[in-house]
Amino acid sequence: MFLKENVVQNIQVYRTLDVNGIEVINIEWSPIVPGVQDIISFKIYRGIGGKNFEFLAETTQPFYQDTNAPIKPGAEYWYKITYLTNQGESSLEEAIPVSLWTMKPESFNERTYWTLISQIRRQNLVFLNFGEKVKIFIKKRVGEKCNKCFDEYVRVPINPRCDVCFGTGYIGGYDKFETKLIISPTPELIREEDTGRVRLFQGRVFLPNYPPVHEEDILIMQDNTRKMISNVIHWRFQLFLILQEVQITELAKGHPAWLLE
Ligand SMILES: [Zn+2]
Repeated sequence: MFLKENVVQNIQVYRTLDVNGIEVINIEWSPIVPGVQDIISFKIYRGIGGKNFEFLAETTQPFYQDTNAPIKPGAEYWYKITYLTNQGESSLEEAIPVSLWTMKPESFNERTYWTLISQIRRQNLVFLNFGEKVKIFIKKRVGEKCNKCFDEYVRVPINPRCDVCFGTGYIGGYDKFETKLIISPTPELIREEDTGRVRLFQGRVFLPNYPPVHEEDILIMQDNTRKMISNVIHWRFQLFLILQEVQITELAKGHPAWLLE
């Protein structure tokens, strides 16, 4: 595929449900923009019918949940993502417009859609009723470089215990979200049989389909214990993120994420 330089890539838009069962639109994109370094943030714009794009939000994560896009007859929501650097904001004109409609794969029909939505609804209902409310700190994927420890020459943070960037290289280090999770009650082994091979692994922790988490993100549990996510499986069907399964480990003593709150 031809990649246009200096433009946010791989924008994916899909309608889904939040943990309360409300219809929302998820937008995800690549945190890497070809030919561009040092992105400070992304800006999300929405235009109905592909026109008159209006600013929605600014974020240091490569995803956003539009919680104010009600289903209206004929209302086709389009999104554009721009990025911000020290040189200013990228062109909104040149940003790639993406809508639910343009994303729809040929094999994707109404029936597949409603099957997926009801699957997500069932799962979110379980989280709503039985889940533990937790704080989740998602590592910034872009941002303002740490003014205390970021080394311009080697282009990495040089202090893993830095209290400004928490060892991530970006000021603030993490973005805070709230979510619910369910810990598998027994340490039973789970069989995984993709690609013909059978693997057995320890029971895990389950999270709803938003926000998408990654390795090294931090969880603060209800009892105030802290965990680090050490492994993630994103269960997806086509674009739809349906469920997240993660392994957690105790946060190491002295890790700067002990300072997060
Ligand atoms: Zn730092």
